[in-house]
Amino acid sequence: MSKETKHTSISTLGEFGLIDRLTKNIQLKNDSSVLGVGDDAAILDYRNKQIVVTSDLLTEGIHFNLMYVPLKHLGYKSVAVNLSDIYAMNATPKQITISIAISSKFSVEAMDELYEGIYLACERYGVDLVGGDTTSSLTGLTISITAIGEVEKDDIVKRSGARANDLLCVSGDLGGAYMGLQLLERENEVFKVNENMKPQLSGYDYILERQLKPEPRADIIAAFKKMGIKPSSMIDISDGLSSEIMHLCKNSGVGCSLFEDKVPMDLQTKQMAEELNINPLVAALNGGEDYELLFTLPLDDYEKIKNDPDFTIIGHMTEASEGINLVTTVGSAIPLQAQGWNHGK
Ligand code: ADP
Ligand code: MG
Repeated sequence: MSKETKHTSISTLGEFGLIDRLTKNIQLKNDSSVLGVGDDAAILDYRNKQIVVTSDLLTEGIHFNLMYVPLKHLGYKSVAVNLSDIYAMNATPKQITISIAISSKFSVEAMDELYEGIYLACERYGVDLVGGDTTSSLTGLTISITAIGEVEKDDIVKRSGARANDLLCVSGDLGGAYMGLQLLERENEVFKVNENMKPQLSGYDYILERQLKPEPRADIIAAFKKMGIKPSSMIDISDGLSSEIMHLCKNSGVGCSLFEDKVPMDLQTKQMAEELNINPLVAALNGGEDYELLFTLPLDDYEKIKNDPDFTIIGHMTEASEGINLVTTVGSAIPLQAQGWNHGK
């Protein structure tokens, strides 16, 4: 029988049997992971490093739709987006804990699949799974992840350090994850009407990957170190560019001019937007889930990044009194609206 069709009830293993099965192959790889799964608590030793800790809670039907999200992807993404918050502090993630609440519709094999994705992300980003909790739920799946990382005290980058005249920069491109979601939603609606309809997803690999398998920008943090750059402020883009710019401005007590024509977008993002009659800029500003890094740099660092294809300078910070503005292609400044985005809409 194939993995997909086998359906072993979790009750045949019980809570402890399931935890055992899901965690038995763990091999700790980080020095700071002293003791992992198997006792009442994990033991970590960070010596004299600063520790950063962050949690995410994901609920079925709000943050993910299992109609079109494979469990392996869900596991991977759950870890990936959590690690993104650690990188956004200019820190390196080292451990995670995973807590799950599972309803009876999920099988042992389904949990195997979820954990396959979780371990894949752990492997990719050099993180140890050191604990968690397992319980049942009446309906659906809930996943809570906590990530722990380290950073030298002097390297920490907060949301609050931006100054007037700093450059506003972003990694990668924006709006793709949102357009990928729109595509998946559209095809899911078609499928709900007629189960024989094959989803029309070809030609859109990039935006689908942006939605289903986002990668936190560990490479950008490494690039900063190599280039001798320390951003004055930083945040990861989980809720859309507008909302994150507002956070940086508010926390730093500055204003900002964002240039419409500088916002980086992939061709597929623009194509999908056109197909669905959505302004791609709206996807970039308010879409969310891109998990790129938004940061500010003192003007002196301009030379270091100006030719790097990983970064785009999209604006600059101003005095708070000038406000937070989108400068349009025709040069008019309009106040930026932060809709933010709660993932289920
Ligand atoms: P307790 O009763 O003290 O909460 P558990 O029996 O829930 O202990 O957990 C036993 C061990 O398994 C602990 O080390 C815990 O961190 C780990 N653990 C429990 N659930 C999970 C999970 N879903 N993923 C990873 N580790 C888990
Ligand atoms: Mg427990």
